[in-house]
Amino acid sequence: MNIPPEPYKIKMIESISLLSAPERRARLVDAGYNTFLLRSPDVYIDLLTDSGTNAMTDTQWAALMRGDEAYAGSRSYEALEAAIQQTYGYKFVVPTHQGRGAENLLSKSLIKPGDHVPGNMYFTTTRLHQELAGGIFDDVICDEAHNPSIEAPFKGNVDLKKLEALVKSVGASKIAYISVGAPVNMAGGQPVSLENLTAVSDYCRSKGIKVVLDAARAVENAWLIQEREKAWRSYSVAEILKEMCSRTDACTMSAKKDANVNIGGFLATNDAALFESARNLCVVYEGLHTYGGLAGRDLEAMAVGIREMVQDDFVGHRIMQVRALGEALESFGVPIVKPIGGHGVFIDAKAFLPHLTQDELPAQALAAWIYGECGVRTMERGIVSAGRGEDGHEHRPKLELVRLALPRRVYTASHLEFVAEGIGRLYKRRDSLPGLKYTYEPKLLRFFQSRFEPLPVPVATKR
Ligand SMILES: *Cc1c(COP(=O)(O)O)cnc(C)c1O
Repeated sequence: MNIPPEPYKIKMIESISLLSAPERRARLVDAGYNTFLLRSPDVYIDLLTDSGTNAMTDTQWAALMRGDEAYAGSRSYEALEAAIQQTYGYKFVVPTHQGRGAENLLSKSLIKPGDHVPGNMYFTTTRLHQELAGGIFDDVICDEAHNPSIEAPFKGNVDLKKLEALVKSVGASKIAYISVGAPVNMAGGQPVSLENLTAVSDYCRSKGIKVVLDAARAVENAWLIQEREKAWRSYSVAEILKEMCSRTDACTMSAKKDANVNIGGFLATNDAALFESARNLCVVYEGLHTYGGLAGRDLEAMAVGIREMVQDDFVGHRIMQVRALGEALESFGVPIVKPIGGHGVFIDAKAFLPHLTQDELPAQALAAWIYGECGVRTMERGIVSAGRGEDGHEHRPKLELVRLALPRRVYTASHLEFVAEGIGRLYKRRDSLPGLKYTYEPKLLRFFQSRFEPLPVPVATKR
């Protein structure tokens, strides 16, 4: 595999083992064919998510011991505040237990019922908090983002024409803010260019519309800008990240991603009124505004993680690891979203299982069959994740994807080869793989807890 050598060595290990094929089939039944309901000890290689599953550095572990567990005015809050101010460049910081905590504070602070919230494709928890606050989500991502086979460098970009058309039709005063994810998780980890972010920012500032960055993996976006955007080639990831943030008014952050911690998040902003409101709501929903639902030690580990995450060699290694997994899958003919994004490889389940309709839940089914084949856990990002609208209608995303997300600094090249070979074997017998149907569907964020059963096995056409 074409991966640069790791810029770290291993200091501690956790044992894992592969269950037998009949055991894996039994576990799938127990889990209702939903990979979220599998037990971790039953999983061999866990690519469900890169969220909170990262290996911390020895300096982060050491920082845990420095945690100041005072209820109020913790020194650890000051360490976090300084790390965020220096790394991202925002003035004000509200810690939260994770990203969705920040999304809740943001949505409640800025959205009035009936307001529109444009975004470059939705994210599950982000959109739900917008909707629960009475907002209406409008997708303003460029068209290429919905096409998994187009090779464009910045498929996360906002389509300014779509944004302008929305502003024209509803009026700038009905836009709560624009939420820009960089990169775009649901589009396959596709980045946004600084050119596009600048244009969005200039336009929104001229209309008095706030720009909010979903910064969960902004460091990866910064590295992809360095790689692909000529004007920024000679800048460091740290410098590019600050430039990105300077185009925005605030960010919500899941520190479980870029910042290499197991729990944590924050809202950061330059807007004093937003800070005031979010800090006040924090007391209601998260905890006092200096700990936001976290222990002092979590704040310390996050502060160190934020300072370390912008190292060019760390980000570069991570992205090259993801790319190598994608290329290995392609070598077996497996259809994936192109170009390969920063945090994971996204298999195009519609192309993998063309005999299934969207209602037969191709991505959900493929994730189940991948576990059955090789004990690898992945995640559906298709119609099940998209959920239902307020009136109960199904959101029907154009993409049916299975995401293989790579935890940071956790797996080696031989793990990734095992994954690619297993999915390659499954691809060979794809004609025989059935779809799924619901046996239980919860009301909110249904992908986490839904249960399924297999539809009849398709009559295999010989390949
Ligand atoms: C994970 C994630 C969130 C939500 O963060 P949590 O820490 O899981 O609550 C928001 N946006 C994006 C793009 C994410 O990947």
